[in-house]
Amino acid sequence: MMRLEGKTALITGAARGIGLAFAEAYLREGARVAIGDIDIDRARTAAAGLGDGAIAVEMDVTRQDSIDAAVAQTVDAFGGIDILINNAAIFTAAPIDEITREDYARTFDINVSGTLFTMQAVARHMIERGQGGRIVNMASQAGRRGEALVTVYCATKAAVISLTQSAGLNLIRHGINVNAIAPGVVDGEHWDGVDAFFAKYEGKAPGQKKQEVGAAVPFGRMGRAEDLTGMAVFLASDEAAYIVAQTYNVDGGNWMS
Ligand code: NAD
Repeated sequence: MMRLEGKTALITGAARGIGLAFAEAYLREGARVAIGDIDIDRARTAAAGLGDGAIAVEMDVTRQDSIDAAVAQTVDAFGGIDILINNAAIFTAAPIDEITREDYARTFDINVSGTLFTMQAVARHMIERGQGGRIVNMASQAGRRGEALVTVYCATKAAVISLTQSAGLNLIRHGINVNAIAPGVVDGEHWDGVDAFFAKYEGKAPGQKKQEVGAAVPFGRMGRAEDLTGMAVFLASDEAAYIVAQTYNVDGGNWMS
């Protein structure tokens, strides 16, 4: 029995990485999936690779017209949206004295405003449709505690945890469950930028930071996108109906170490 049979999902930032792994897992569980991404060429390639049941939707989560168009396109294609995963985000880092207003604004715009206003657009659709729904936001361990050189990204992910709590408490009366996943360190292309940053500021050799953080995870290695898919499927499934406004760590014990 597939756990998301007949459901439809919009996943933001799903052209690669964790979002793409979620799309694959949702398709395996019987859902149809819209891959929303600002990188539409890559989203199209990803959707084509996934085959029947996947479409690519151009979407910049910082622009309201783009969010609205992506929601409308998904509804047109599938007849409605049952599940939203707010996964699009960027990682930025800098010592406090080098943070610029531009980087701060851009990181908050994508990671926080993007999450809030995509949630709002999809929640409006779900409320009007009257069939409830599920929203899963991507938080991070970075939202649980600060990191010396990662001030702004950490603050955005703390905001995502807070948004999840408030939206979760607000929307459950419409049968919409809002929850979040907080990964620790997950391997992927995202790490190219992270590695370059720590090479610059901590004098690390290429790949060194990644090797160090992986070795520090109690589980014994970095996370992989596939390590997160079980939670993403569970939170969208009927089994999670009574779970409201929570953020779950899926981090190989990273948070506790
Ligand atoms: P990634 O950088 O590999 O992919 C992010 C995707 O978002 C890309 O396809 C990109 O094109 C898209 N995107 C960027 N800006 C966008 C915009 N304005 N509108 C729409 N799409 C946009 O990221 P990832 O490593 O797969 O991470 C996915 C999520 O998990 C993010 O929310 C991230 O913060 C979170 N997370 C990642 C890690 C990690 O170690 N990788 C750890 C904790 C949390």
